[in-house]
Amino acid sequence: MGSPGSGKTTIAKKLALSELATIIETGELLRKESIRETQSGKKIKHYLESGDLVPTNYVVKVIDRAIAQTDGDIIIFDGFPRKSDQIEPFFKLKEKNDFLLQAVIGLKLSSTVAKKRLTGRRVCSQCGAVYNSYYNPPDKSGTCDNCNSELRHRPDDSSEHVEKRLRIYNEQTMPVFEYFKKHDPIKTFSVSAEKPKEEVFESVLQVLQKVGFDCVSNRNLPKGEGYGKQ
Ligand code: AMP
Repeated sequence: MGSPGSGKTTIAKKLALSELATIIETGELLRKESIRETQSGKKIKHYLESGDLVPTNYVVKVIDRAIAQTDGDIIIFDGFPRKSDQIEPFFKLKEKNDFLLQAVIGLKLSSTVAKKRLTGRRVCSQCGAVYNSYYNPPDKSGTCDNCNSELRHRPDDSSEHVEKRLRIYNEQTMPVFEYFKKHDPIKTFSVSAEKPKEEVFESVLQVLQKVGFDCVSNRNLPKGEGYGKQ
């Protein structure tokens, strides 16, 4: 879990790579669903573009489908559950699939940094590489360094939508984190996401070691991309 711009997906992807885990990237699954010309696709698109949370029934459907396609034994839920009415469906899916909940991690970020990260974010339309016009600009503005494709600004990363998404996070997602902190304090951790992603990742690894992932290592990362302890 984490505020918009806290790096949930970036950290989850690094973790998935180093742990051979499957990541269920809720926002991305919903974006994929939204470009389908179905009735639910059109509805989801409307919520995504306005910066609102998508109603829980649509979210649970895509998550359920994604779980059915996993074959690894570790799943990282990126951005689910994200509001209180998703807690019960989360536990139902946990029961249905016989999961063990190992850790709940909340990435914390000030709204000033979140705004800069989000409004400056640019994503490659082809390879998905992520840039930031303030912190990590591409060599040529608007073009991906890796594949020369066009960089896109997500519609929900515009400044007015960012304000709204941060407000929604404080009002709707924070209570979910508080729920886990209260009901499962031993497995629920807060990690500061203010620092560079390598340091945030290191803190997340330390949390996972606390809950018994002593195998966390760089073993599966390509040379030069290791962030964990050697
Ligand atoms: P993200 O990529 O995590 O920033 O999510 C992008 C957008 O997807 C959010 O602003 C929401 O509109 C939607 N979304 C992602 N996860 C959820 C969720 N668990 N429940 C409802 N909407 C979600």
